[in-house]
Amino acid sequence: MNNYDAIIIGAGFAGAVTARKLAENGQQVLLLEQRGHIGGNAYDRLDDAGVLIHEYGPHIFHTNSKPVYDFLSRFTEWRDYEHRVVAKIGDMEMPVPFNLTSLYLAFGEEKGRRLEEMLENIYGSDRKITILDLRQNPEPEIREVAEYVYEHVFKYYTMKQWGLKPEEIDPSVTARVPVFLSRDDRYFQDRYQGIPKEGYTVLFEKMLNHPNITVRLNTAAKDVLQFDELHSTITVDGEPFEGSVVYTGALDELFDCRFGQLPYRSLKFEFETYPQEWYQSHGTVNYTVDQDYTRITEFKYFSGQKLPSTTIVKEYPKAYNGAPDIPYYAIINPKNRRLYDRYLAVSKHFQQLHLIGRLAEYQYYNMDAIVEKALALSEELQK
Ligand code: FAD
Ligand code: UDP
Repeated sequence: MNNYDAIIIGAGFAGAVTARKLAENGQQVLLLEQRGHIGGNAYDRLDDAGVLIHEYGPHIFHTNSKPVYDFLSRFTEWRDYEHRVVAKIGDMEMPVPFNLTSLYLAFGEEKGRRLEEMLENIYGSDRKITILDLRQNPEPEIREVAEYVYEHVFKYYTMKQWGLKPEEIDPSVTARVPVFLSRDDRYFQDRYQGIPKEGYTVLFEKMLNHPNITVRLNTAAKDVLQFDELHSTITVDGEPFEGSVVYTGALDELFDCRFGQLPYRSLKFEFETYPQEWYQSHGTVNYTVDQDYTRITEFKYFSGQKLPSTTIVKEYPKAYNGAPDIPYYAIINPKNRRLYDRYLAVSKHFQQLHLIGRLAEYQYYNMDAIVEKALALSEELQK
């Protein structure tokens, strides 16, 4: 074990990018992954119908960061794909984020035009406004728009996703899907958007294919590493290890949930294959006013595969009750942050330990943000 300069736990974007960068810096890297595959939650695979499905939910890559895009482009070509989402409201399919097209669908031509003018006078054109901010506007007609969007797009979907009302969750979460005073109906406006041409798993295989990287699957951190707080040391199979340890898993688990479990939301995915070419009109359809699932995604929109059948996934949010549930979303609020900070304080006993990732940092990061952080961390850890 002491042949290694760094041990990295977790083969998602956080761990894999760090592993690759350290390996290129001449370090010997051991990458431990508790699942039977690499890729973390971005993992994809062919299902029985030959459709490239995303096992842990739909992943669309988007970023404004050229360094992030350039780094990943070393391991993949991209299939141009711009994500478009509609909310199914009765028979209507309304663009989400709610935009000017949605406004006319909701209020009709005449009133829509008046409301568009009012909104643009107040906020300007091409502006993004969060639903919580829009609801603060005292103007009665703007309030009417805000209430419509709140009721038809956010309230029920957020109740399903989080078990809480939009105003009860961290404002940064609903701010991800603002009202957009534009006719641009794309879900993301980032400069670079797409899907890895051969899928995420192949991207990861290429990224981890380096002579200085050893990947060990089906291996949890605790199978190999021991953390001795008293002496501030980390041992590997009983022997002191002095290299860097990069942990991308849940921080409470690393310390045996001793202060209690950090709250997360989990999801149940139901995949269905149909003997028809297409199932729905868009890559993702959100169910904002009915159904128990939040959204249906049809994977062939992402992969561009031409096949006679199609596979969709329905997402059912649920509470996280520890394994075998998967902790998908940190529930960000001051109370949970305080609990996280207690675990963070324990982690500070270990100078060589570095925390990165959606789980280890208890944050809501997109893939590009994680890649950016991993590039920065690996600079810090260069020999
Ligand atoms: P993960 O991908 O979760 O990887 C962590 C890895 O560590 C896992 O493989 C896990 O098994 C392993 N691990 C954990 N603990 C241990 C341990 N103790 N020992 C060994 N291994 C361990 N982002 C986007 O940019 N676009 C999207 O469209 C998008 N869609 C998403 C949809 C859903 C439903 C979800 C949940 C997330 C989505 N994301 C999206 C976010 C994206 O998944 C994350 O940004 C990304 O996966 C974070 O990478 P990570 O390495 O931090 O974590
Ligand atoms: N949201 C909503 N209705 C929608 C889409 C999103 O209420 O039609 C809210 C919901 O609270 C969700 C948040 O906005 O959790 C962020 O949505 P996003 O699509 O970014 O979630 P993710 O892709 O991370 O699941």
